[in-house]
Amino acid sequence: MIAEGNIWTVIKALTWAETYLEKFKVPEAKIDAEYLLSHILKCKRQELYLNSERQLTNQDINTFKGFIQRRSKREPLQYIIGEEEFRGLAFKVTRDVLIPRPETALLVEEAVKIIERQRAKGKGQKTNVIDLCTGSGCIAVSIAKEIPDSKVYATDISEKALDIAKENAKGHRVEDRITFLQGSFLEPLKEKGLEEKIDIMLSNPPYVSKKDMEKLQPEIKEYEPPLALYGGEDGLDSYRTIIPEALTYLENGGYLILEIGYGQAEGVKELFGKNLAYGEIEIIKDLSGIERVVKAKRE
Ligand code: GLN
Repeated sequence: MIAEGNIWTVIKALTWAETYLEKFKVPEAKIDAEYLLSHILKCKRQELYLNSERQLTNQDINTFKGFIQRRSKREPLQYIIGEEEFRGLAFKVTRDVLIPRPETALLVEEAVKIIERQRAKGKGQKTNVIDLCTGSGCIAVSIAKEIPDSKVYATDISEKALDIAKENAKGHRVEDRITFLQGSFLEPLKEKGLEEKIDIMLSNPPYVSKKDMEKLQPEIKEYEPPLALYGGEDGLDSYRTIIPEALTYLENGGYLILEIGYGQAEGVKELFGKNLAYGEIEIIKDLSGIERVVKAKRE
């Protein structure tokens, strides 16, 4: 480790960290070291090299050493620094919540498109939205921020996840427009007077199958909450609950928008097909061309 009294410059710290992470076979050792140091020094990654002889304070060195040790055990960068960006907004994350993924932005974008279309057609300015399994709250908060006058209900089975989601709502000043409810899937929505009042229900539920859970990279498998990942034997259990139960809350013309895992589109489409009340079933691909979202309208 680092000898006392040594002067640590940016370049020296980066070289040490890269070697240390490589010893533990961390895949992107150099980039990760730069990312963590630039977070501590509150600068951009590229700027590190413009000031490579800058000396670090003892406090910065200790923080950096701690971060690098955590990363060497494959802890995700986002849990180490405690936040992740989603659609341009910073969200606090801890090991109690799934780290927001860029693909999930697609859910929000679909919802925003539908709401704007409905409003352009003269539907009033009130929109009721439900986000099931909210986790960090990234979906609920993004919708509340983007759609003025929307009322959002966000559920999660984990009390600790809801605490994080509430903090994120406060941080983005939308806490007065989001109601947080603790419970499994749609269970906490009962007796809230929301029957047939919801314009859009959306969710990124747990959808990883038993077989795929085994294959997850260590960052996910050992650090992210299994509760937010595991979707039963074939990964489709969440959809078996959500798809039929959503009909109680969706108004006529309301939409259910669901994130899905790789190769699940047909199975989820079939589950929608079992309920005659759904029409306009559509599969949407993400930027990598993977079927990522299934959307259907209650008719
Ligand atoms: N997208 C996550 C993954 O990479 C899974 C998220 C989920 O189950 N909703 O495994």
